[in-house]
Amino acid sequence: MIRNVLDLLPEELNQCLLDIGEKEYRAKQILNWVYNNYTTDFNEMTSLSETLRNKLQNILSNSIPTIITKKSSNDGTTKYLLSLQDENNIEMVIIPNEKKNTLCISSQVGCARKCKFCATAKLGLERNLKTHEITSQVFLAIKELGDDKLTNIVFMGMGEPLDNFENVVKAIRILQHDLCFNFSPRRITVSTSGVIPQIAKLADTGLKLKLAVSLNSAIQSKREILMPISKTFPLSELKKTLIDFRKKTPYRITFEYVMIKDFNIGRKDVKALLKYLGDISCKLNVIKWNKVDDLPYETPSTREIDRFINSMNILSSAVTFRKSRGADIDAACGQLAAKNVH
Ligand code: SAH
Repeated sequence: MIRNVLDLLPEELNQCLLDIGEKEYRAKQILNWVYNNYTTDFNEMTSLSETLRNKLQNILSNSIPTIITKKSSNDGTTKYLLSLQDENNIEMVIIPNEKKNTLCISSQVGCARKCKFCATAKLGLERNLKTHEITSQVFLAIKELGDDKLTNIVFMGMGEPLDNFENVVKAIRILQHDLCFNFSPRRITVSTSGVIPQIAKLADTGLKLKLAVSLNSAIQSKREILMPISKTFPLSELKKTLIDFRKKTPYRITFEYVMIKDFNIGRKDVKALLKYLGDISCKLNVIKWNKVDDLPYETPSTREIDRFINSMNILSSAVTFRKSRGADIDAACGQLAAKNVH
C-alpha cells in the first residue's frame, strides 16, 4: 500500500524504509526535507541517491492539496479553498494577530451534525479527511507564512473533528512530534459540538491538547433546536464528561457561545449559562453570529452583545469576546462552505 509521507509518524517511516532494505537514518533525512525544508517532492531531496528517490516513489506518495483560490480580508485574514485528490474541496483560514498566526483547519468534507446556524452543516457530510489531508493544511500554511510564523492551530474549520477521531488523533500526533511539525500541545485546540463518547475516548488517549466545546445554549430544549446532537448527547451528560476530561488535562476547557439575536442571550439564557459554567474551571469565548445566507437568524446589536457579556463577568472563568475575523470574505466562524464560485 502506498502511503502519503504526511500520514506517517517517524517510526512508521523508519519501518517503510527497513521494508525496502534501507537504513533507518534515511528516515531522518526525509523528515528533515519534509519538516525543515518544506518539500515533499522526492526529486528535491538531493541528499538521497537517485536510486533511493526512485524507490521512494513506489512506496510513498507525496501529494498535497492544491490551492484553488486565496481570498484576503481587510483585517488580514486569508481564506484558502483547497482541492483534494478526489476533487472535493475544503477550506482553511489563516488569522494573523499581533503576535500570533492562527490556522483554522478542516477535519471533514462537510459535516454530519446539522447545527442549524452553521454554513458547513448545509453541505451534509461528504467524507472524513485522511490524516495527510489534515496535516497538509498545516504544511501549506507554513509554506504560505514562512518558517516559524505559524503559532496556533485550531480544528474549527469544516467538520466535526471528533467524528473523524482516528485520523484527527493521528494528525495531532504528527503535528506534535518533535521530528515532524513540533507544535506544543497548548497551541493546538480541538473544537467539538459535544460528541460525548469521543471526548471520553480522547481523554483516555493521554494526548495533550486544548479542548473547546461549542455550547451555544445551556438550556437543554434550546440547545436541541440549535444543535440536534444535543438530543443524543444532552447537556447534563456533557458536563459530567467534561469534568472528567478536565481532571486528565492541564488545560482549562473553553466553551464557545455564538450569540444569536432574540434566541440565546436573554435573562433565562444568562442564568442557565452561569449555572452550567459556575463550577467548572473553564474559559468562555463568546462570539456574535455571523450571517449565513438563507438561515433565519440575526446578529444581535452592539448593546445586546455588551449586555450579555457584562452579565457573564461575574463568572470566575475568563470571559472573552472573540471578534470574528474575515467576515467580509465568508471566512468567519460558521461561514465555511467551500463555495467554488469565485
Ligand atoms: N464541529 C466543531 C468544529 C467547528 S468549530 C464544533 O462545533 O465545535 C466552528 C465554530 O463556529 C463552532 O463553535 C460553532 O458554534 C461556530 N459557528 C458556527 N456557525 C456560526 C456562525 N454562523 N456564526 C458564528 N459562529 C458560528
